[in-house]
Amino acid sequence: MILVVGGAGYIGSHVVKQLVETKPVVVLDNLSTGHRYAVDKRAVFVHGDLGDRATLVRMFEKYPIDAVMHFAANSLVGESVVEPMKYYKNNVAATLTLLETMMEYGVKRFIFSSTAAVYGIPNVDLITEDCPTNPINPYGRSKLMIEHMLSDFASAYDLRYVVLRYFNAAGAHESGDIGEDHHPETHLIPLILQHLLGLRDKISVFGTDYDTPDGTCIRDYIHVTDLAEAHILALHALLSDEKKTATYNLGNGLGYSVKEVIDMCERVTGKKATIEYTARRPGDPERLVASSENIARELGWQATRSLEDIIASAWRWHASKRG
Ligand code: UDP
Repeated sequence: MILVVGGAGYIGSHVVKQLVETKPVVVLDNLSTGHRYAVDKRAVFVHGDLGDRATLVRMFEKYPIDAVMHFAANSLVGESVVEPMKYYKNNVAATLTLLETMMEYGVKRFIFSSTAAVYGIPNVDLITEDCPTNPINPYGRSKLMIEHMLSDFASAYDLRYVVLRYFNAAGAHESGDIGEDHHPETHLIPLILQHLLGLRDKISVFGTDYDTPDGTCIRDYIHVTDLAEAHILALHALLSDEKKTATYNLGNGLGYSVKEVIDMCERVTGKKATIEYTARRPGDPERLVASSENIARELGWQATRSLEDIIASAWRWHASKRG
């Protein structure tokens, strides 16, 4: 059985939906940001906190868990600057409790959701996994601390793990059942689509004076279904002992500026956006684009969905739930 911690959240729920096709799954989620409706009905659901050792012990006692996938985290950069304690507690300390319990029960296979934020402000066109890690905010630092813990646990306790560093996840499931549903929403694509649905009066573009062709920030947008497929491959590699430890970037390898994303949303929806150009958002690196060559070579993964596919799927989702 696979334990998915944070399986009611955006990325976790998409992975669970694929995973239940081939494996028994138990989800642990405290529903602080995730949604009960998002958890596929074929999975067992436990409402609880991963930082609560008694809950974890009960689960490890009750279910024959072979591997753990960990998606449960606070992930807002701005909030992490104002409330770092929350990030070190919910991300770092809670993950330590999870790992400690796993070691106690001899569960030694782990897949961890990390982030491009561990790179800080990289000075390269395509970011490879060996680029220096210099996170510039507590969120990125909390994720990097866990990466260090995993490496130490692998040496000392034979933990086997795959770290997946996500770039900009976006899009929705093809079934139309689940998609991006954050409250409050802070991400570019859902904000544009909510505006085009008439739920917001404009879209703000944060900064037009970056050193990029059109002056706006460049990001690597990756379809959440492509991300989910990478997790399934990583899990198989761990379960078959093909891999002991690995750290992979997950992106498309293509960069799109904020303006290009707005243009694509207009094209896909046939609607015109009202754009407000504002100052830079503090802490935004000007360009973050992944090289995903390592996971392509080692696990045969490739992103197959384009920015247009991402936006079309997100549009179907937001239009159906009107938000
Ligand atoms: N962005 C923007 N307006 C918004 C939200 C985001 O211009 O209302 C920009 C943001 O500055 C960044 C890009 O869109 O350059 C992607 O931001 P998002 O918050 O979606 O993801 P991040 O890259 O911060 O993880």
